[in-house]
Amino acid sequence: MAEETIFSKIIRGEIPANIVFQDDTVTAFRDISPQAPTHILIIPNKLIPTVNDVTEQDEQVLGHLIVVAAKIAQQEGIAEDGYRLVINCNKHGGQEVFHIHMHLLGGKLLGPLLSQ
Ligand code: 5GP
Repeated sequence: MAEETIFSKIIRGEIPANIVFQDDTVTAFRDISPQAPTHILIIPNKLIPTVNDVTEQDEQVLGHLIVVAAKIAQQEGIAEDGYRLVINCNKHGGQEVFHIHMHLLGGKLLGPLLSQ
């Protein structure tokens, strides 16, 4: 059984977060350390630690993450200019919180995908 992270507490409202969207399947909140003018994390309410743990049963949930990301991008006013969706996996991907999450980054020209 996967260990809960701080993100489970955010989903349940046990610790504060700037939540921009929540339904039965996903929660979206502003990143505590934003790397762009808009930096929102979109996460499944179900705990899936990494992309490596995804199964076919998760297809609907993961598809919903993208649907919600597109809606939030509209709400944030960044849809037309564009934005980036990122999911990091494990050490080489730079994953720090082991509750799968999609970064929605935008609000400026983001530049190259990788720094090296
Ligand atoms: P990762 O590197 O795992 O893809 O990204 C984790 C993200 O979670 C980081 O951008 C980090 O700033 C954010 N983060 C970590 N702890 C918290 C928290 O307690 N609240 C919020 N809102 N964001 C967090």
